[in-house]
Amino acid sequence: MKKRVLITGGAGFIGSHLCERLLKEGNEVICLDNYFTGSKDNVVHLLDNPYFELIRHDVTHPYFIEVDEIYNLACPASPVHYQYNSIKTIKTSVMGAINMLGLAKRIKARILQASTSEVYGDPLIHPQPESYWGNVNPIGIRSCYDEGKRCAESLFVNYNEQNNVDTKIIRIFNTYGPRMNPEDGRVVSNFIMQALLGEEITIFGNGEQTRSFQYVDDLVEGMIRMMKSGKEFAGPVNIGNPNEFSMLELAQKVIELTNSKSKLIFQPLPADDPTQRQPDISLAKKELDNWEPNVQLKEGLSKTIEYFDQLLKNGWTRK
Ligand code: NAD
Ligand code: UDP
Repeated sequence: MKKRVLITGGAGFIGSHLCERLLKEGNEVICLDNYFTGSKDNVVHLLDNPYFELIRHDVTHPYFIEVDEIYNLACPASPVHYQYNSIKTIKTSVMGAINMLGLAKRIKARILQASTSEVYGDPLIHPQPESYWGNVNPIGIRSCYDEGKRCAESLFVNYNEQNNVDTKIIRIFNTYGPRMNPEDGRVVSNFIMQALLGEEITIFGNGEQTRSFQYVDDLVEGMIRMMKSGKEFAGPVNIGNPNEFSMLELAQKVIELTNSKSKLIFQPLPADDPTQRQPDISLAKKELDNWEPNVQLKEGLSKTIEYFDQLLKNGWTRK
């Protein structure tokens, strides 16, 4: 059935893929974004579609509209960007959640929160199941993001219990793909751009820290299945690819796939950088109709490299 769907942060990397997919499935999509880290360029190809609306709005202010579903994605996601104005990051997570939950309550819409594996902090349990409470430094440089997202989860749970709002929480693990901001400082975009430009590849620390990288199409499938799941399952549920790599292994793969001559350079590890991260996805498999990721690193990286290569061919240069 055709739905009217609001996506906050819809002009960002993940949001733009979600807009595209929901439109393709015949829904009406309203994309709300303040373009802090996202861009009109990410959704410009959708503007001809009469069922797509693009609105400049900051989610720290209330917004009123009639929709059936809300995906709440507005929030900078890369450490460089979320630390740029840490107080604003907290406001976006917390006030954004309050404003969108208030809207969902008023119009009786179902609402999904894009939470994060960062709620597990530097995890002491490996891989991380949803039942793990995490190991987060509440006053560290990542806390504006981690604690903002943890508070948003608490708001979602409490609006559900106290006000009967139909909420869903997914915890997204490191996701990559076309339309990542080439300068947002995340490791996949950094390494690919550096490799394509023949620059040194910046490894933070000794490069032995690990992440589990998920291609964006697998995430979008998981998000949509979560939104469609029964009311009794509110989550949180991990959505990620359990294949885990060290940053050194990632750099090696990127160099191979780009045929780059770039050399590795080692730089200091930022404070509180998690040592390891891998999702336990058994709950997602059980509750979301056997959902699991299909795109493995080599295939996903190749598609992402193709995107960044095209950006460069179209004249993109560093600011
Ligand atoms: P992104 O930075 O590309 O997208 C975030 C979008 O939110 C941008 O378009 C930005 O302009 C918008 N935004 C930021 N502050 C806003 C505000 N106050 N009002 C309105 N819009 C605002 O990042 P992304 O990777 O697409 O992440 C999307 C969501 O998924 C975020 O909530 C992020 O925390 C979550 N997430 C992403 C990952 C990942 O690996 N990409 C992992 C875990 C969680
Ligand atoms: N990283 C790196 N070089 C870079 C950017 C990041 O070695 O140029 C490392 C970073 O220290 C972290 C990992 O890559 O250990 C993932 O970083 P990202 O910012 O992509 O995601 P997050 O740390 O939020 O999972």
